[in-house]
Amino acid sequence: MKNLAQEMADIIAQHQWNQKYQELLQEAVQDEDVQQFLASHPQIKSVALQQDVDAIYEFVQAKSKSLAGYQPRLIWQNQHILVSYEPDQQLIAHKKAQAFKNKFQTIDMASDLDQADLDDFAQGDTGRQAAYLQALRFLTSYNPQQNFVPGLYLAGDFGVGKTYLLAAIAKKLVSQNTAVMLVHFPTFAVQMKNSINDHSVMDKIEQIKDVPILMLDDIGADSLSSWVRDEILGVILQYRMQEKLATFFSSNFSMADLQKHLAVNQRGDQEPIKAARIMERVHFLAQEVVVLGTNRRHQNH
Ligand code: ADP
Ligand code: MG
Repeated sequence: MKNLAQEMADIIAQHQWNQKYQELLQEAVQDEDVQQFLASHPQIKSVALQQDVDAIYEFVQAKSKSLAGYQPRLIWQNQHILVSYEPDQQLIAHKKAQAFKNKFQTIDMASDLDQADLDDFAQGDTGRQAAYLQALRFLTSYNPQQNFVPGLYLAGDFGVGKTYLLAAIAKKLVSQNTAVMLVHFPTFAVQMKNSINDHSVMDKIEQIKDVPILMLDDIGADSLSSWVRDEILGVILQYRMQEKLATFFSSNFSMADLQKHLAVNQRGDQEPIKAARIMERVHFLAQEVVVLGTNRRHQNH
């Protein structure tokens, strides 16, 4: 019994194609991938072969040319042999990594954050359930085209996994194509002070204030100057509230304690009204959830 490849060779021979083209086609049929394709598609009849001989020729040509990042593949669709061009796996992986980098920006954060995993977060500690459920609540209801969904304000002791959870949520969002900026707020604040001299403060605020998702990590870890509180934090939060942009926070303080903390500036002045104005925005932007559990920093995991 003749196999398809043999049949194809016969078809080519019967045609009045010019010598050179015939040779090229004969060669194409000998191609290993073509042979394999035909062998794995026994439903292809010689009629189709006859009609679609060009596709086979194109396939072999394209293979030899190595089109940057794309791989030709023969497919059988609607009773026809077609060539489809697919990005090769390496290119896909590279593009994915690139897109991830562009979508997930961090300022002054540790570099191992992309290891964080939401399912891992939920394992073990029961004190984490509330925060985990709130994270799921956000992820399932977030839709920038629709109503505003408040982010999370993660309150909890040192080492319970607040930053880890923020990073895990960020990863999920980025994988859904949402851009996230995760900022270590105390370090950012110091940077901003240093930017006064080179007049780049406004640029830096611009850079972070309108990312779709902003996460301010470790807010309240240092005492803030009135300037950082009102002109940096206040301005960013005011903008996000107006624009209804989801914002996350993590803090060792509860919201109530953060308010007390913000009410005293670095020089020890009491400024309760200023603190209340900031907290009004925080309340609008995020929902408080307490993260309980053990300090993970001294464990081997
Ligand atoms: P916090 O921000 O609350 O102070 P971190 O998020 O920095 O705490 O977590 C403390 C340490 O525990 C970090 O080294 C973090 O990577 C690790 N960690 C937290 N949660 C998990 C988890 N579910 N799986 C593995 N490591 C975790
Ligand atoms: Mg932290």
